[in-house]
Amino acid sequence: MKTVDTILHARWVLPVTELDPVLHNHSIVIDDGRITDILPSENCAQQYTTSIEKNYPQHLLMPGLINAHTHSPMSLLRGIANDLPLEDWLHNHIWPAEAKWVSDEFVHDGTQLAIAEMLRSGTTCFNDMYFFPEVTARLARDIGIRACIGLITIDFASAWASNANEYIDKGLELRDHFRSDSLIHTPFAPHAPFSVCDEALQRIRMLADEMDLPIHIHLHETTEEIEQSIKQYGKRPLERLNDLGLVSPNLMAVHLTQVTDDEITLLAESGSHVVHCPESNLKLASGFCPVSELMNAGINVALGTDSCASNNDLNMLGEMHSASLLAKGVSRNARALSAMQTVRMATINGAKALGLDQVTGSLESGKYADIIAIDYSSLEMQPVYDPVANLIYNSSREQVSDVWVAGKHLLKDRQLTTLNEQEIIQKTQQWNDKIASTD
Ligand SMILES: [Zn+2]
Repeated sequence: MKTVDTILHARWVLPVTELDPVLHNHSIVIDDGRITDILPSENCAQQYTTSIEKNYPQHLLMPGLINAHTHSPMSLLRGIANDLPLEDWLHNHIWPAEAKWVSDEFVHDGTQLAIAEMLRSGTTCFNDMYFFPEVTARLARDIGIRACIGLITIDFASAWASNANEYIDKGLELRDHFRSDSLIHTPFAPHAPFSVCDEALQRIRMLADEMDLPIHIHLHETTEEIEQSIKQYGKRPLERLNDLGLVSPNLMAVHLTQVTDDEITLLAESGSHVVHCPESNLKLASGFCPVSELMNAGINVALGTDSCASNNDLNMLGEMHSASLLAKGVSRNARALSAMQTVRMATINGAKALGLDQVTGSLESGKYADIIAIDYSSLEMQPVYDPVANLIYNSSREQVSDVWVAGKHLLKDRQLTTLNEQEIIQKTQQWNDKIASTD
């Protein structure tokens, strides 16, 4: 008999492992923050004892969702500019608002709002790109959520850094500071080909090769981006990145709404990853990422919400729903992006893209206990012929009842355990008043 920290018993366990099994009446054994066993519940009592034993009789336990692309502090700009195309939205609304308001306090309060929303929607790991990344990193660590804090680089000055080299230098300092933190990871995050010069991209490529870190970048988001690149550099952005040596297994290309057959071959052969953000692409009318074609070519595709300013939420379950339906519509193929493929996209594929598939993204012995519970007891979830189909096609984030990151219970029956909801709402309303009064 072995004594362990926690045992969770559930009606269904969806481990997201080979052959995609759905386990009935199974238990997850957690010790020292990691999963140590998954076994039929009836066998549990003979093998393990624990002081924390929880029953989820009408729930599905699955890996926590991985939001592979977001800008969490921008939650404070939720709804500030809508129904506009990307260029107008970004240049005339978002960048001016950021120039005026972004500070360490803005980043702190925006990130707090974002993490609260993400936890309440079942996200256990997010991949961020924003200014003052050390503030986001500290906050994520203190709250207890897993985070990939992008070492942001952009050519223009902000309240955080004045030029591309200073961004990179400050990013490297941040990496050193959090190097031994098991919750905080630090991919490079050059903003986009149109906003980062060749010299900075080359320096990032060299550092990323040396440290074997992902390079998280917006790429081929709109047709305008491609046209501008051809005018300025005589080539498409992906070709330019390839010439600079950035197209490799470390590349995480976000959006990719514009892609040729040759580019798909290049991405597949290089082992690059793509992050699909369907709702942001839809809202800004940026175009459609051909997810099925990419996956059929063998490319690993992850899923992200993008920021609250272009989505306007951080709801990964909603994103999964949109992604699956959109892929079917765009490819005119009802088999495209099945419910299970969509689950994989939001879990293990995200972990692979971030280089974290050895520690999270599925429920397996040895991995961190990054787990969520979905409550299937409401009438909207009945009947349940196929729990995975219900999850993708008719669930909502309100059914995320519990969340654990590295075995720590961060959402308990819909209550956040390491954040104060009322305080976050009040602070957000203060920002709302301040920003609205000068807009
Ligand atoms: Zn983005």
